[in-house]
Amino acid sequence: MIDIPTEKEFKYKAFTALNFRQIPQISSLSDEQIEAISVVSHVLPFKANNYVVDELINWDNVPNDPVFILTFPQKDMLLPEHYNLMKSAIDKGLSKEEVKQVAHEIRMELNPHPDGQMDHNVPVIDGHKLTGMQHKYRETVLFFPSQGQTCHAYCSFCFRWPQFTGMDEWKFAMKETELLIKYLQEHTEVTDLLFTGGDPMIMKNKVFAGYIDALLEADIPNLQTIRIGTKSLSYWPYKFTTDVDADDMLRTFEKIVKSGKNLAIMAHFNHPVELSTVVVQKAIKRIRATGAQIRTQSPLMRNINADADVWAELWRKQVNLNCIPYYMFVARDTGAQHYFKVPLVEAWQIFQNAYQQVSGVCRTVRGPSMSATPGKVQVMGISEVNGEKIITLRFLQGRNPDWVAKPFFARYDETAIWIDDLKPAFGEEKFFFENELNEIFNEHLNKSTAGHFE
Ligand SMILES: *Cc1c(COP(=O)(O)O)cnc(C)c1O
Ligand code: SF4
Repeated sequence: MIDIPTEKEFKYKAFTALNFRQIPQISSLSDEQIEAISVVSHVLPFKANNYVVDELINWDNVPNDPVFILTFPQKDMLLPEHYNLMKSAIDKGLSKEEVKQVAHEIRMELNPHPDGQMDHNVPVIDGHKLTGMQHKYRETVLFFPSQGQTCHAYCSFCFRWPQFTGMDEWKFAMKETELLIKYLQEHTEVTDLLFTGGDPMIMKNKVFAGYIDALLEADIPNLQTIRIGTKSLSYWPYKFTTDVDADDMLRTFEKIVKSGKNLAIMAHFNHPVELSTVVVQKAIKRIRATGAQIRTQSPLMRNINADADVWAELWRKQVNLNCIPYYMFVARDTGAQHYFKVPLVEAWQIFQNAYQQVSGVCRTVRGPSMSATPGKVQVMGISEVNGEKIITLRFLQGRNPDWVAKPFFARYDETAIWIDDLKPAFGEEKFFFENELNEIFNEHLNKSTAGHFE
């Protein structure tokens, strides 16, 4: 049973580069901070809303407040040369088009498409490229519904930033449910369908239910789990409490569960403060009452949550609220990575320290994990073997499923921040998967990745 909301509807108001000066709390910032928001938001996407501003950010703690850094552009998110380039373009009074061109040139230097996402993982059906889908790991297909490719607010570290700046024009997006269904029917190895974006929970229930009804009607036996990747519990929990169609959305969730499929909300929380409001706790309860599970994931980010105690508290709070800790990710090599990056060795130390502080019920979490070209690679730890200090890694997901769960070893390197920075241990020339990875790309994609790991 779903309880009827008692409080009155809370209205969403977005703040962007155009109107952020209307936020009353902005007047407490220095001129330099306000200028930084304006300059950086010409390059990286910026959107906040009244819930984030009024309930999550502690303005007494700005500029160090984690949610402020999570949502508001900071000067150091651009390299000094990029910042100065954009600032002088604005100061010189260049035309809108010219400023856009400068922004584009800077963005091209920020590795807008890490992990070859544009080419490597797009499935094909009857010779037709399904650009709104990705199928990288055998069991799970990602689906990018075209109406779900924006968010209630933007994370300053987001690796989908090119699509929010208009750079990709929603290239990963699709409307055609029939093609999705056909693909799932033909690929019986697929058990999981993950709705992602952007944030699919930006969709009105009417639109979302359209996809779900078609999928359930098609009655695809291999499809066992429907997942929804979302940050709405953090950025707009009213989605599930007082929005006009909140109850209808929960009924759609119930429908999925009643059909016998597992419904997993893959909720994105970066900091315990996002779990602290009455409304998010109520939203979690209402979602859980539909029979859906909530699994949680977050990247580890300098200046936001690079602290073991923060993670331990995050996992504990999640479990207390009936959510299941799932993944800790490492910052991707894109956008403002220089600002957020945590070296792999330090990431593992933070993970270990946090993991040691919590009981087994929180230890469903896995990490720190890199979503890299060959797969999801977990840093398992640091050890010493025959006098050589090494980093032990393993695949949590592999482009080839045979790679999964097999430990492999890299030379100890405190400065490495991504798998590309690591060298094989024990004098080996290559990691065990490298030849095969190159073959996969050469055969199926006619594309060489030579140099990627060298
Ligand atoms: C993480 C991820 C998945 C899901 O992996 P699980 O380990 O099953 O959660 C699927 N596809 C891609 C491309 C991913 O990055
Ligand atoms: S909610 Fe997800 S997709 Fe949206 S900006 Fe944040 S990380 Fe990116």
